[in-house]
Amino acid sequence: MAFAAIPDPIPAPGTGELVGVDRGVAVSVALSTGDLLTAPGLRETERARLARLLRRLARARRGSKRRARIKAAIARLKARETDRRNDWIEKTSTSLARRFDVIGVEDLNIAGMTRSARGTVEAPGRRVAQKAGLNRGILAAGWGGLVRRLEDKAPGRVIKIDPRNTSRTSSTCGHVAGESRKSRAVFSCVACGFRVNADVNAAMNIRDTAAGHAVAARRGSPLGGPANREPQHDLPLTG
Ligand SMILES: [Zn+2]
Repeated sequence: MAFAAIPDPIPAPGTGELVGVDRGVAVSVALSTGDLLTAPGLRETERARLARLLRRLARARRGSKRRARIKAAIARLKARETDRRNDWIEKTSTSLARRFDVIGVEDLNIAGMTRSARGTVEAPGRRVAQKAGLNRGILAAGWGGLVRRLEDKAPGRVIKIDPRNTSRTSSTCGHVAGESRKSRAVFSCVACGFRVNADVNAAMNIRDTAAGHAVAARRGSPLGGPANREPQHDLPLTG
C-alpha cells in the first residue's frame, strides 16, 4: 500500500481544534471548515467501458473463454476503482488526524436508519453499487473505510454522534426545520437566514455536538487531555 509508512496513531496536533465530518449527499465528505472533498472513482470513459463490459457479460455463454476474458476486464476496472478510493481514504484520514485534535463523525449505525428514512441516501451496506446508482454504494463503502482509518490514526480522538437532525438544524441559531433544507445542496435557515452548503451545515452541527461530548469526557477524566484514550463508544448520544 502506498501509505504504509505513515505511523499509526498520529500524534494529536495539540491545538484543541475540532472538526465535524459529514458524509455528504452532494459530495463524498463535507468538513465544518467548509471544505468539500470528493473521493475519486472511475472516470467517465471507464464507467462507460464498465457498463459495456457488463452488457457483454450478460450475453456471453457460460463457461466460454470470452466470458472469462470479460470477467477479468471487469475485475481489473473494479480493482482500479478500489485502489483510488483507498488512496483517498489514507490521504484524507492522515490529513484530518494531523490537522485536528477532535474529529466528530456521524455514528454509521444510526446514520443508515436516519438517511434511508429521509429517503436521500440508500442505507449503507445494502448492495446498490452494481447498476446505475454506482456512486452511492461506493460512497457508503468509502465512508465506513474512512471512519475506520480515522479511528486507527486518531484513537480516542474520534467522536461518533447521533446524526439525527444534523441536516435540519441551523448551525448558527439552532432552529430545527425541514423547510430550511432547500435542496440537496443548499441549507437556508427559515429563522435566521443563515445560508450555506447543506453538507457543510450538517458538518458544523456534528462538530458542535462532538465539542459537547469532548468537554463532558474531559470533565469525567481525572487526567484531562483528550489524546490517546479508548474510543468513546459508550458516550451518551444526543440529537
Ligand atoms: Zn438559523
